[in-house]
Amino acid sequence: MTHPLSLTDADWAEWMARSGEPAYRAGQVLDWIFKHRAPSWDAMTNLPAGLRGKLAAEFPAPRLEKIRETGSHDTTRKFLFRLADGQLVESVLIPASPALYGEASDRRTICISSQVGCAYGCKFCASGLDGWKRHLAAGEIVDQFLRVEAEGGERINNIVFMGMGEPLANYDNLLRAISVLNAPWGVGIGARHMTVSTSGLAPQIRQLAEQPLQVRLAISLHGASDEVRGRIMPVNKKYPVAELLAACADYTRLKKQKLTFEYILIRGVNDAESEARLLASHALQLRAKVNLIPYNTVEGLPWERPDERTQERFLQILRSAGADATLRREKGHDIAAACGQLRLQTQKSFAAGPALN
Ligand code: SAH
Ligand code: SF4
Repeated sequence: MTHPLSLTDADWAEWMARSGEPAYRAGQVLDWIFKHRAPSWDAMTNLPAGLRGKLAAEFPAPRLEKIRETGSHDTTRKFLFRLADGQLVESVLIPASPALYGEASDRRTICISSQVGCAYGCKFCASGLDGWKRHLAAGEIVDQFLRVEAEGGERINNIVFMGMGEPLANYDNLLRAISVLNAPWGVGIGARHMTVSTSGLAPQIRQLAEQPLQVRLAISLHGASDEVRGRIMPVNKKYPVAELLAACADYTRLKKQKLTFEYILIRGVNDAESEARLLASHALQLRAKVNLIPYNTVEGLPWERPDERTQERFLQILRSAGADATLRREKGHDIAAACGQLRLQTQKSFAAGPALN
């Protein structure tokens, strides 16, 4: 069954033609969905009842259902949604935060999930602990935006694909979702305000480099050498550091854009000074920005963040080498970091208690 939010303007035009409806109805439906945020087909009052009936018959899928929310209005808020087939996904709303962005920022960010679970099994991450369940449809990705924006009551102007799942493993649906989120007839968010985070799928990085949208790319590096990275990220066997960096270089060259290396600091795992020096040389070579993130503990996993002195020292090594690096210091902005944890907790508690329905 097609999700109605997966459809582009061209798809709607085709749908109207197939359904014997005039072409201008496509624009009306899109306006209702994205400009007026109509909650149902029935709310689209300038459409004839017959057309509303056809729409309801073809697209009966329920919207995301919010089943949990944590956090507060002035910090990060996390939402747990149930999909039509009962699977759970998380989305996170990060309000404007000058402290986080180091500027007078009115950036309101949503962190979106791209899959249910994750197949990549990084050792430190909650999203992969329970394996991979399925891809999200493009419409399920777009719907997270619409639902969270409605919940927050303010326009969201920045999107990061840093929720559950590996976005580039769900490439076609991701790209479709990005075009709906970007389009003037859709949500209308500029591509430069969208960041795709990947654990390093080199072929898809190149594929993304070749398509015209100027989306930003963040690479979850978390280790500068194959030895360290390979220990915590199984994907490194398939795409070792050198191959990943070559794909990144293609991205930078084709998009004429700086990318970001995300580097979680995990005590005794990837926080050695030698890794910092190697990371600095990768960053300089690609002119990439480095984002250091102290590790957020995950229930059931043994990892911890290093003490603050070690974090600062790591940052200092990067900066003295001339790399553009930041360290996220303040608490409470775990953003994507802890994405996947709410779902895991909920599934655990429901596994022990009543069924979810
Ligand atoms: N699969 C993609 C996007 C989702 S993860 C990727 O790996 O990039 C988004 C970011 O959160 C990644 O950089 C990931 O490594 C990081 N992350 C996962 N678990 C974390 C934790 N417990 N603490 C801090 N960051 C974490
Ligand atoms: Fe998947 Fe990204 Fe978590 Fe790795 S860090 S398990 S790729 S979601």
